[in-house]
Amino acid sequence: MSRSTIRCPKCGGVNPSDAKFCIFCGTALVPQQSRSTPGAYEVRYSLITPDGKEIEVVGEAIKVFGREDFIGIIPREYLILITRKSQGGHFTIACYSSSEGVSCYIRDDNSKNGTLVNGKQIKGAGWIKLNDGDIISPAGAVNLVFRFKK
Ligand SMILES: [Zn+2]
Repeated sequence: MSRSTIRCPKCGGVNPSDAKFCIFCGTALVPQQSRSTPGAYEVRYSLITPDGKEIEVVGEAIKVFGREDFIGIIPREYLILITRKSQGGHFTIACYSSSEGVSCYIRDDNSKNGTLVNGKQIKGAGWIKLNDGDIISPAGAVNLVFRFKK
C-alpha cells in the first residue's frame, strides 16, 4: 500500500496527506472536513503596530499582505518599502483550524525588501510557523506583533 496523498486544488501536485501546504506551489491544503468540524476555531488574529494600531483579520484562511494594507497604519517613509499587492504582495499568512485550535504560518512573497520574524530573515525560507507574540517586520521597517484573538 502506498502512503495516502492529497492533491493540490491549485496546481494538481500530489502531496503527502499530512502536508499543510502544497510542496509545489505553497497553496494551503485545508482538509475539506476541517472547515465544518463542530467546535473548530475561527481564524482570528491581529497585527499590532508599536503605537497600538491594529489590523484585524477574521475568517480569512489565506491573506496576502501588501502596501495597501498598511496605508494609514504605518508612516509613509516605511510604507514605500513594502511591496504592493499588484507586484505579488509582501508576505502571506495562511491559517488552518482544527478542533485543537488555529495554526498560522507566514511566508515572504519574494518581496523586494524581505520580511523578518523575530529579527530573522524569512525571505526564501518557505512557510514559518507563527506563535502568539511573534514580531513580523516587513522590510525590517516596522515591528508588528502577531496576536491570536479569542
Ligand atoms: Zn500546488
